[in-house]
Amino acid sequence: PTAPSIMTMNGHFAGVGDAPTKEQYEHGIQVIDEEKEFNPNLNTYLQLTKIAQSGFNYHLISVFGSQSTGKSTLLNHLFGTEFGVMSETERRQTTKGIWMSKNKREGTDGKMADNILVMDVEGTDGRERGEDQDFERKSALFALATSEVLIVNIWEHQVGLYQGANMGLLKTVFEVNLQLFLKDKQSNPRSLLFFVIRDHLGTTPLANLRNTLIADLTNIWTGLSKPAGLEKSRIEDYFDFAFAALPHKILQPDRFITEVGKLGTRFRAGHRAARQHGLDQELEGGVFLPEYHRRIPADGFSVYAEGVWDQIVNNKDLDLPTQQELLAQFRCDEISREVLEAFDVSITPLEEKQAEGVRLGKPAVLKDLGTAGKAARVKSIKAFEAEASRYHKGVYARKRVELEGKIDTRLKALYHGQLSAAHKSGVASFSDAVSSAVKAGQKKGASYEFAEIVEREKKVALKQFETEARSLAIEGVPWTNFKSQYNLYEKDLDEISGRLRKEEMRRLASRVERWVRSRLGDSVGLEFNKLGSGRGGSGAPENGEKPLTEKDLWDRIWNLFTDTVKEAETRFTERAKSFDANEDEIEVGLWRLRRKSWGVLRAKIDEEVMEGNILLKLRENFEDKFRYDEAGVPRIWRPTDDIEGMYTKAKESTLTLIPLLSRFRLAETYGPPDLPDWIGNAPPSVDPQDEEDLAPIGGVDEEEGKSLEEEMTILSEAKRQDLVVRFKKTADGVYVEAKRSAIGGITQ
Ligand code: GDP
Ligand code: MG
Repeated sequence: PTAPSIMTMNGHFAGVGDAPTKEQYEHGIQVIDEEKEFNPNLNTYLQLTKIAQSGFNYHLISVFGSQSTGKSTLLNHLFGTEFGVMSETERRQTTKGIWMSKNKREGTDGKMADNILVMDVEGTDGRERGEDQDFERKSALFALATSEVLIVNIWEHQVGLYQGANMGLLKTVFEVNLQLFLKDKQSNPRSLLFFVIRDHLGTTPLANLRNTLIADLTNIWTGLSKPAGLEKSRIEDYFDFAFAALPHKILQPDRFITEVGKLGTRFRAGHRAARQHGLDQELEGGVFLPEYHRRIPADGFSVYAEGVWDQIVNNKDLDLPTQQELLAQFRCDEISREVLEAFDVSITPLEEKQAEGVRLGKPAVLKDLGTAGKAARVKSIKAFEAEASRYHKGVYARKRVELEGKIDTRLKALYHGQLSAAHKSGVASFSDAVSSAVKAGQKKGASYEFAEIVEREKKVALKQFETEARSLAIEGVPWTNFKSQYNLYEKDLDEISGRLRKEEMRRLASRVERWVRSRLGDSVGLEFNKLGSGRGGSGAPENGEKPLTEKDLWDRIWNLFTDTVKEAETRFTERAKSFDANEDEIEVGLWRLRRKSWGVLRAKIDEEVMEGNILLKLRENFEDKFRYDEAGVPRIWRPTDDIEGMYTKAKESTLTLIPLLSRFRLAETYGPPDLPDWIGNAPPSVDPQDEEDLAPIGGVDEEEGKSLEEEMTILSEAKRQDLVVRFKKTADGVYVEAKRSAIGGITQ
């Protein structure tokens, strides 16, 4: 015969298959139904009743006893619950299963503990109806694994009936207890067996009933076949006992109510009385001793209870420590997920913003990232700690490390992106700042100190990066020390400084080159002009200097060239040193300067010996010799003068200049200057880019296939001959004119 469902009886209890609505839970929840199914909505119920948020601040009580001994009636009176009660007229059994409800009397008189959950274990009396004891055993196991206090409800007239059904039930409880805690020796949880003696007539004092019960319990315990290792265990190693008696509810309804009221006040925190002796223990205050608590955080209770029930139903060895570890893993993962969701809310937008910047090619330095990141990290870890630290310590510690790992992976990517953006923008503004300071310095025309500009701007750039890096640092988190990024940044700044200095060196080099060009332009021009004077310069040399001769033209040019370059080298070196150029850079700069200067000189010489120019000089030279006497006085030609002889002499003299001019030769050696030696070898540190804009020099750059002799050839053979022909024509012209003037002087 199937029992009517509770739903049809009062419509307020939520069964296993029911959808979770608040109304349905108003009076409790069927945790396990008659089919031994666990209710998946238990957590919903715990949430609705706000138990789930209570951490360890909750209590669990189960009630045991024969069928129809007024258990549900008792609970309903004690806790204001509405468990199904057998109708007094119909006397039918209520549905099997385990029901749970929250104490509804809480707060009414302030005498009961917070968050009491009561479990009404129905149908624990199968033996009386000849049914199997399976459910009884299973529900006892479940109750013991979860509850702090087990209320044993018993009629007064059953006390002392050792063979009675109650004693059978207690035997089961004890057996199950030994089985359960065989696996859990280190925590060794205790439970309170709270005997409530019903229909107490009062003729036998409670103390006597208590003694009888204790004697019976001890007997049962002694008779138990205990598992190996626990043979010597005593009942008081696992249980404390408490006793209460209630008058007959129907015969003494008022007294019943009063006594139930008193009994209710015992459901609060208590402690052990000072004197303790074996079974003769007494509790002071309430019945809830901390040591009874199963230490399952309320938010994990439903998962734990379900796991425990699953083991029980499948007849597996119930191993509570393992269950607690599994619970810890499950809950820690769940809490971690929730925490990460919140973390996402604050971090994802930042990640997106950063990614956007990178995509657009302008990485952004996010404002206050360090503050936001740190806050999100701390908040997440604190939130995790608050919830998860209640669980198994080892699992919690491991899961916390895992969570930190996940958070830090995200933050690390974000922070590295941030520093990379700061690096990029810092490098760019450093380079800009230096360049524009240099430009400003150049505009003012004033001398500016490149090294100082670099030093100043580098300081600014480093400070900026350091500030950003510091803002990302989190105390006690080693990876947030960004020293290596800082060093890399500084290295880059130095590299850029090096590049800018190189540019600055180039600018300096071209300034010095311009100076060389202008100096040589003047001085070499002057030397060539002297050719115009046939007596090797105008007038006698001053200050007793060696008289200038045409023969040492190249010596003079070489000397003034090397002197000029030497001066330029000094200028270059001083300036380059002032902006911290190193020895190598200076060496390269000087080498380039010498090569370029040679080019300048060579170009100047080429200009001077350009056809028109040199012809003019030769003509002047010739005229000077031909038309002026030794004292520099112009000749007036007379027919008797040896015009022809003087013409020939002057012409021959001037003609000797042409071979002289054709080659750059020093008088002493009658050879070219040792240009390769003077320029020197390319310094080892020269990079190919430094050589790109350098024109090859014969005799120096041998692979160019041009010899030093060729480099020093100022006039080619063909040019020379051509120049001789042209000069002669010019000289002839002058001669003819002189001739004419001599004849003309007579006719006049
Ligand atoms: P349960 O099966 O143990 O939960 O018992 P119920 O609470 O359903 O009650 C079974 C029957 O006992 C009901 O008819 C109640 O009216 C009756 N009853 C409840 N409390 C008492 C009591 O204190 N004394 C007596 N004699 N009957 C009671
Ligand atoms: Mg009942």
